[in-house]
Amino acid sequence: MSFSAVVVAAGEGLRAGPGEPKAWRLLGLRPLILWSVERLLAAGAEEVVVVVAQDRLALVDGALKGLKGWLAVLGGKTRSASVQAGLAALSCGPDQIVLVHDAARPFVTRLHIDGLLAAIARADGAVPALPVADTLKRGHVAIEATVSREGLWRAQTPQAFRLGRLMDAYGRWPKDEEPTDDASVVERDGGRVALAPGDPMLMKLTYPEDFRMAEQLVGSQRIVRTGFGIDAHRFGPGDAVMLGGVNIAHDKGLIGHSDADVGLHALTDALLGAIAEGDIGLHFPPSDDQWKGASSDQFLLYAVDLAQGKGARILSADLTLICERPKIGPHRDAMRARIADLLGLPMDRVSVKATTTEGMGFTGRAEGLVAQAIVTVETPA
Ligand code: MG
Repeated sequence: MSFSAVVVAAGEGLRAGPGEPKAWRLLGLRPLILWSVERLLAAGAEEVVVVVAQDRLALVDGALKGLKGWLAVLGGKTRSASVQAGLAALSCGPDQIVLVHDAARPFVTRLHIDGLLAAIARADGAVPALPVADTLKRGHVAIEATVSREGLWRAQTPQAFRLGRLMDAYGRWPKDEEPTDDASVVERDGGRVALAPGDPMLMKLTYPEDFRMAEQLVGSQRIVRTGFGIDAHRFGPGDAVMLGGVNIAHDKGLIGHSDADVGLHALTDALLGAIAEGDIGLHFPPSDDQWKGASSDQFLLYAVDLAQGKGARILSADLTLICERPKIGPHRDAMRARIADLLGLPMDRVSVKATTTEGMGFTGRAEGLVAQAIVTVETPA
């Protein structure tokens, strides 16, 4: 079933303590707003409208870099005004299902959305909700009453509605009242809002301690990914080769568009592979004169930046150089040190190995040199 989404991120989030507005605080090194938008798009949202405050409009592009299928609009003074601004910006028709979501709930998944889409089939709206588990007390300084939790639910977001039904209900909502969620607007308008399965993972980050807990969850949800890279360059005239970021005197040079450092090229491809970001030729086309004679360390540093932008942490690198000559052994530690420096790793996480092909093939005939690399990273799940 097709759906669109509005993500509300215009609030200050003052209860989260001093600092950036809440949606712009970092969670797992990435702005909070990125989490929801990325996950809604990944779950198949046709369009996501992100509602932000005036002073953040220019910053959304940077925060959502690389994502497609969203647009940002200016929010209002209240949450409900922001939701309505978001709904008005959607390009879909009135029958389209729209999920209204708070950027402060970063862990929304396709499973939550599937539950909502199933529940709204027989209702005007659907809300992920959890039964209240704690005993409820009413009181001020002391307890005045124990309240039955029978039939009580904690409503979360995203909340699902048909666009036209929700906009109509908002049109009839009293102007001087602020609803605490979107379901209540449809409820008061006589609509039937179904309860869909909630999830503790849909928790709302409100206080500084919520962010601390979320950081721990993010840490426990990271996965390890491995990328493989391979590169070959032909020997040509020259008196030195660049290998693994180190200049080595040799009776030949390596031919290439850049400095032809097969070691750093293989490592760059391995890192790009680990984060599924294409290959070195995609980012640095050989047809582009800008990279003629370029020092290959900038390719690797670019991939490191890209990885960090995706919340990835590089764990280790293993490079194998395949050639008869030059001898790699005497330069091994210089290469390890240089690569460790470029990847931001301690040297004991970087390995450089060498082998020959026993005189066989093009490496054996010393026509060229091959490098293979594996890079391991840890990324958000
Ligand atoms: Mg190359």
